Amino acid sequence: VLHNTIQDLKGNIRVFCRIRPLLPSELKQIQCSIEFINENGIEIRKNQESYDQITGKLKETKSEFTYDKVFAPQSSQEEVFEDLAQLVQSALDGYNVCVFAYGQTGSGKTYTMQGGGGIQKGMIPRTFDLIFKNIAELQRSGWSYTVKASFLEIYNENIRDLLNTKQGQKHDICFNEGAETTVTNLSIQTINSAAELERYMVLAHRNRATAATDFNEHSSRSHAVTKIHLEGTLEDLVYKGSLNLVDLAGSENAKQSVAGERLTETKNINKSLATLGDVIQHLHHKSRHIPYRNSKLTYLLQSSLGGNSKTLMIVNISPIESCFMESINSLRFAAKVK
Ligand code: ADP
Ligand code: MG
Repeated sequence: VLHNTIQDLKGNIRVFCRIRPLLPSELKQIQCSIEFINENGIEIRKNQESYDQITGKLKETKSEFTYDKVFAPQSSQEEVFEDLAQLVQSALDGYNVCVFAYGQTGSGKTYTMQGGGGIQKGMIPRTFDLIFKNIAELQRSGWSYTVKASFLEIYNENIRDLLNTKQGQKHDICFNEGAETTVTNLSIQTINSAAELERYMVLAHRNRATAATDFNEHSSRSHAVTKIHLEGTLEDLVYKGSLNLVDLAGSENAKQSVAGERLTETKNINKSLATLGDVIQHLHHKSRHIPYRNSKLTYLLQSSLGGNSKTLMIVNISPIESCFMESINSLRFAAKVK
């Protein structure tokens, strides 16, 4: 039903867990043993039993977790998108929607969000397609929609406009109570088709890559935010909604102890991921004071995370046993936000 404002009984925060498949280059690696209990639960265990060298006792190597949905390695992009489709409609109905991909570097965040060609298309381009498909339908019943988009990244607590990478441009976040959060000097493009939106996505990705000396390193240390503004009007009715699709910095940065310049970066990533977790948790528990201002990311998303909003956190997990501790950390983070 279009423009249905009945609240989903499950609440406005959903958490999914996606285990990626073993890659061809990893065939010689040992995998964790992961049991899919049902569509909500997994049990993850190390295959090799490991004994504590000092006490001789078996280390804690097994854990069970429950989420709103769990996706096994063979799950397709289409299956993961199925639930997101509802959120796209919610945004057209005037909700502010945030989708986050969380996980350590190499766990599948960018594959999930951006993906590849054909059936490997990720959540972001699938969202673009569905927005324009749904708008075409809504237009037949008299609605008209404007779609606008911006692409930015947050690196070391600084915002960079990915559609305009002019050197030295400064971007500040402005928040007025009751209004939208805005970013100064940020390019916002009006978009007329899914193909046009995808072209901007490619440009943003290219700009993000060319500015970095080591792209993998850079992307593991920055948050990429795709924001789509939607405004629907029918006579004197106006619905304003938005979608924020976020490929987060690698969660492994949150604990590593490194020195020098890297330490500041690490502290910033640590702070922003921890603050994101705190904010979602506070929202879930309907707290009065929500610590949005503790990081750029949550401050940027302030108007999209509270009130009339829906959030989906997709925690990505690598199946490799040497990633076990990072996987457990990610699974715990995701379990905590609800
Ligand atoms: P991250 O963005 O978290 O660092 P990537 O998305 O780059 O991780 O994934 C790491 C590698 O695993 C890439 O080569 C990617 O293509 C591959 N990969 C991730 N998830 C899947 C999946 N569900 N199916 C197939 N390949 C995947
Ligand atoms: Mg990535």
